[in-house]
Amino acid sequence: MHELPAVLALLDTVQREARQNQFRRVSDIYCTIGELSGYVEECIGMYFESASAGTAAEGAKLHFRRDPAMLECTGCGYRFPHQKGFDCPQCGAPARLIRGTGTGFTIERIVGEGRAESERTDPASAGKAQSTGGQVS
Ligand SMILES: [Zn+2]
Repeated sequence: MHELPAVLALLDTVQREARQNQFRRVSDIYCTIGELSGYVEECIGMYFESASAGTAAEGAKLHFRRDPAMLECTGCGYRFPHQKGFDCPQCGAPARLIRGTGTGFTIERIVGEGRAESERTDPASAGKAQSTGGQVS
């Protein structure tokens, strides 16, 4: 359940990016999930699907990359991504987790389509302009 706020934040960023880049439609979103974040790809995908309905990001494909937590050796200070054990590959001493690593959920890249060409004025706002100054009796 805790993916929802992250998905909404993601969608916010995607929509902002889409506007800035004048994408009519977002086709691919590449993101990184920290292995310790507890986020599940399927859940993110599910929330995203319903939250993005009606936005430029609707139907966009999500691509996930797992971001490993980083460890630091207590013996030699060597830093390495967590894979299996907690032992330093350099000297064999135990390593400890570097706080804050492997917990994020970030967007790496957004791919969009349909760069707006000559649509500076959208018909909706042009139509509204005529209705200004209307009297209310
Ligand atoms: Zn070491």
